Amino acid sequence: MREQYDVIKMLQDMVRIDSCQPEGNEKQLINLIRDFFAPYSEDIVLTEIEHSENRSSLVIRIGPEVEGGLAFVGHLDTVSVGDRNKWAYDPHSAKLVEDTVYGRGAVDMKAGVAAMTVAALDYLKAGIKFEKPLYLIYTADEENGCQGARVIAESKLLGSAAAFVIPEPTDNKPAIAEKGLLWLRFHLEGQLAHGSKPEAGINAVEAAVDLSKLIKETVSVNLKHPLLGNFTLSVNRLEGGIMTNIIPAEALIEMDIRTLPEQNHDDLLELIDSCMNEVLEGYPGLVIRLEIIHNYPSLSSDENSDFIKRVQKYVREEGLPDNLCGMTYLTDAAALIPVHHKPFVIIGPGHESMAHQLNEAVKVASVHQALQIYKKIMKDLT
Ligand SMILES: [Zn+2]
Repeated sequence: MREQYDVIKMLQDMVRIDSCQPEGNEKQLINLIRDFFAPYSEDIVLTEIEHSENRSSLVIRIGPEVEGGLAFVGHLDTVSVGDRNKWAYDPHSAKLVEDTVYGRGAVDMKAGVAAMTVAALDYLKAGIKFEKPLYLIYTADEENGCQGARVIAESKLLGSAAAFVIPEPTDNKPAIAEKGLLWLRFHLEGQLAHGSKPEAGINAVEAAVDLSKLIKETVSVNLKHPLLGNFTLSVNRLEGGIMTNIIPAEALIEMDIRTLPEQNHDDLLELIDSCMNEVLEGYPGLVIRLEIIHNYPSLSSDENSDFIKRVQKYVREEGLPDNLCGMTYLTDAAALIPVHHKPFVIIGPGHESMAHQLNEAVKVASVHQALQIYKKIMKDLT
């Protein structure tokens, strides 16, 4: 099938719309996408979900509302630009230099979103009908814990889609596993005292250090997954204290835990609870409050499913290596798969190491390859 829409131009249009966190403003991008689909309003069912002012997610169904079908899921928000002056080009100019498009979101993940959109539009323009439904899902607020995808997961909008494609950057390698994420914040409350009389206070900072060490020793296990590598736990924020001669009453710890498919988060939290109790015994009167910031399980898909085998074939046909891999980052799959329990593949243009970086960029050829792979995946619905 001939290409009808210019995927690179669409990618540039998308990068030029600022959808940086924390504001997101996904609504503007959704208006752009709606304009592209406007000529086909008779062939599609479009549902916009408004989360707040200027923040929406969008679900487009193409084809009949029957069992099965496929869902493509892309997020519209990007991380912030950081220091604008350190960029070689304006991060929202979408500058095309030789074979590369630069800009915030170029790789994570407007290239994938543009490719899935153009793949579907080409089928609509050619008048080819789907026998099974194709769902295009555009989510808001992914970089802040998959907020849009969570709302969609609980809705009935996805019917019973038989498989999911997540066009996040993998250099067009098929990834069938992703790490889980458990972000924890501990608030410790002790008792203030004069620095010369530590015994009169309850030292929240010392307790925070003890708790961090104990959790790291107790929870860190030597687990390794063939596609995802190691389980990791890191203490990334530790705050507390006022000055040298005051026994501090308050402290705060933040921990980033990345899990593997065989790990159960409830079991981990139980282990962490026992660590908290052990520390509390050593500091009578201390209070520890645990806040769970994010909690998403690790996922893996069955490598022997027909769907995954077909995706591998299409990747091979593009002259790319078809070996399966895993991604350490979180995707919207973390919100959708635990509800829908279907095979999924993460596959998209650009290199994942470019995501969230200064001078984020994607190669034109990589976007075209993704487009061809997506068209083949969609063709199975016709
Ligand atoms: Zn992303």
